[in-house]
Amino acid sequence: MDDLYKELCEKATELMDIGSAAAVLGWDQQVNMPPGGAEARGRQIGTLAKIAHETLINPRIGVLLEKLAPFEAEKGYGSKEASIIRLARREYDKAVKVPPEFTGRMSVAQSECFDIWLKARPANDFAMVRPSLENVFGLCAEYSDFFPGYEHPMDPLIDNNDYGMKASDIRSIFGELRKQLVPMVDAIDSQEPADDTFLRKNFDADKQIVFGKSVVEKYGYDFNRGRQDIAPHPFTISFSVGDVRITTRVRPNFLGSALFGTLHEAGHAMYEQGSATELDGTPVRGGTSIGVHESQSRLWENIVGRSRPFWQHYYPGLQGDFPEQLGAVPLDKFYRGINKVQKSLIRVEADEVTYNLHVMLRFDFECDLLTGKLKTSELPDAWNDRMEADIGLRPSTDSDGVMQDIHWYNSIVGYFQGYTLGNIMSAQFYDAAVMTHPEIPEQIGQGEFATLHAWLKENIYRHGRKYTASELLERATGSSLEIGPYMKYLKTKYGELYVL
Ligand code: ZN
Repeated sequence: MDDLYKELCEKATELMDIGSAAAVLGWDQQVNMPPGGAEARGRQIGTLAKIAHETLINPRIGVLLEKLAPFEAEKGYGSKEASIIRLARREYDKAVKVPPEFTGRMSVAQSECFDIWLKARPANDFAMVRPSLENVFGLCAEYSDFFPGYEHPMDPLIDNNDYGMKASDIRSIFGELRKQLVPMVDAIDSQEPADDTFLRKNFDADKQIVFGKSVVEKYGYDFNRGRQDIAPHPFTISFSVGDVRITTRVRPNFLGSALFGTLHEAGHAMYEQGSATELDGTPVRGGTSIGVHESQSRLWENIVGRSRPFWQHYYPGLQGDFPEQLGAVPLDKFYRGINKVQKSLIRVEADEVTYNLHVMLRFDFECDLLTGKLKTSELPDAWNDRMEADIGLRPSTDSDGVMQDIHWYNSIVGYFQGYTLGNIMSAQFYDAAVMTHPEIPEQIGQGEFATLHAWLKENIYRHGRKYTASELLERATGSSLEIGPYMKYLKTKYGELYVL
């Protein structure tokens, strides 16, 4: 049995290595590569993806998984061995159901749609990209049909990102959240907006980077096992426990972009760096779901990084770095400014309170596009109507409406829900950490994060993908997914800033 297990591990590591090699190429593509490299790089990444797929669907893996079932049962669910076998099986079972011919068509459709979107968005020409988008949604529906027995065609797509969740689960959580959020947004919107003009002065880019780095280093992001680079779209990418990188975008005329972007990506990165070393090179390393990943980035970005105690500690230093811009802005005004709530058109620029409404709209539309209830030709109007109804603003262009996010145009469907699940879970995890260590908020006020980081590492990071999101929540917080702690967090924080 040990030999079979060893053989499976070797194959799994090979697969992880191919994936990491492709990830290095992808990192380079976004950070260093000259534009002339684009075509060949696309092909190189495609070749590795093909090799990975062939390696994964090797029938020998199926044989090993079957023979190892008794060994898996004997080792027990939480063991490293059983977890590796279970995760390998999950990926193998999925991969063998999807014919390579389909994967090829999907990848062509994906790059075609993405390329057209790159031109259609700046030209505000949805009609240009509509046929490709329709093709993408058609293929996504076809993908779901490889997994018969689903309740909703979104379910198999959601499963790839937030394993174990179904569209119906998400609908019921979102419905409940929406009922509480909408009145809150309306109440805030009827009041005097916060002033955040001081964030939009000119801020030296290098100084912004240095400040962000100093914070995330203190958070616990390990630069010996990571690095930070500049990229047009911020992201985190990991090749192993020993190499987890972040990127940041700096805007000289907006302080919030690099600062909060860095805190966010560092949250993702610390999760990846925190996988137990024994999980490196196995399918168990990394984050267990998009929702849990986002819970970690948002916890460090928002719950910690936009809190008053945090800025009581850090603001004098920031003022010292930017005396002309911030010297005359008192802490209280700064705190209100970075937590300004305002109805806006663009999801990635939305504040904590309105953000989830942007997610719900996308989730509902992708569900309806998959079933055919909504046609791509009806999408722009449907989008604008819903924005008007939910956010009170009607986009004047499709570029700022239905074409603003890369996801669908890059064949990523069934992903958006993870952002809101992350917001909800971030409050549950943080509450549980503070319950065990009530000194955490005070420590944040002193710029000390070791206790919080250690709790997250112990209860979340080190497990990698061993437990599903709901198992992890249950283990770490003692409860299942619930919106109570998140709503309490929002009501407490924004109740102090606005009359609610
Ligand atoms: Zn994120």
